[in-house]
Amino acid sequence: MLQDTISVKITKTTNSHIGDVDWDNLPFGRVFSDHMLVMDYSDGEWHQPEIIPFANLSLHPATSAIHYGQSIFEGMKANKAENGDVSIFRPAMNANRFKESCERMCMPTIPEDVFTELVRKTVEIDSNWIPNKEGYSLYIRPFMFATDEFLGIRPSETYKFVIFTCPVGAYYSEPVNVKIEEFYTRASVGGVGRAKTAGNYGAGLYPAKLGQNQGFHQLVWTDGKEHKYIEESGTMNIVFIINGTIITPSEDTDTILRGVTKRSVIEIAKSWGIPVEERKVSVEEVVAAIKNGTMQEAFGAGTAATIAPIAKIGYRDEILELPPVDTFVISTKIKNYLDDLKAGKVEDTFGWCLKV
Ligand SMILES: *Cc1c(COP(=O)(O)O)cnc(C)c1O
Repeated sequence: MLQDTISVKITKTTNSHIGDVDWDNLPFGRVFSDHMLVMDYSDGEWHQPEIIPFANLSLHPATSAIHYGQSIFEGMKANKAENGDVSIFRPAMNANRFKESCERMCMPTIPEDVFTELVRKTVEIDSNWIPNKEGYSLYIRPFMFATDEFLGIRPSETYKFVIFTCPVGAYYSEPVNVKIEEFYTRASVGGVGRAKTAGNYGAGLYPAKLGQNQGFHQLVWTDGKEHKYIEESGTMNIVFIINGTIITPSEDTDTILRGVTKRSVIEIAKSWGIPVEERKVSVEEVVAAIKNGTMQEAFGAGTAATIAPIAKIGYRDEILELPPVDTFVISTKIKNYLDDLKAGKVEDTFGWCLKV
């Protein structure tokens, strides 16, 4: 049914709260646009998607996602150019990743072109919520969860898919201090680390809190088996620049989330002739590169911050200092290029921005 016509039933709000928004103070993820898209799955198929006024959901206490964790999400951004043009950054990649998360979590998939079109329509209806200001954007949160009203561990037969959006301010990422985690594990081989599934983030809270108690913003996760190889930083991918080469953990494992931001960084760098190595990156190599001065830059890559430069890395009893962030030439250039691309200031030669 869905592939033939993506007709979305639209009920517009009669009570917009856009006038209540403090546009100069937009804390991330706390301000919500007027509408949301909702689509239900039952009897083996997706039903007509609807855009309705943003409102609470009503849930049965036995809703299976709450108890057994079939719950996945995505995150991407839409931006408004100076001339008012609206575009979404690489939504097809999120559509593909969402499908992979569905499969891993035994949830029904949504055809990728349908997912992208539903995202586009959700952005279109609230396009006046996209701040027309440098660095500001509309964060888009699609998610799906199991809705069977049943206590029993088996894949649910019913699901709810929702998309809502949040206007967000410029993310001034102060340089972060991170700690290499050698005990707790984010993901293990054969697990669900590659899926954007809710439980991964709940499981990371306790080790992250211990790190924060020691003064670190985030953890650098290492592999779950030997804790010898670097995987990610917090909920971002991690990238190093050693001796002019971009080095980042290979996604050739099911323990690393395949980030759209990191992929974009790699593709931009390659197009500029900067060497890129995607491979196993050992803790030992990173520590040695900082100590011998060949580590030039290190940063986290993710949709929220785009690029979050790293200032210090805690390793066992040592605090290793990276070069001052104002010497991060390559990552700054890539970040500026990505910002300009999203803002429509440079030509989209990669064809990454979907016009709304
Ligand atoms: C979402 C996420 C990322 C970043 O992915 P982007 O597509 O760049 O936003 C990296 N790691 C984890 C664990 C994530 O959940």
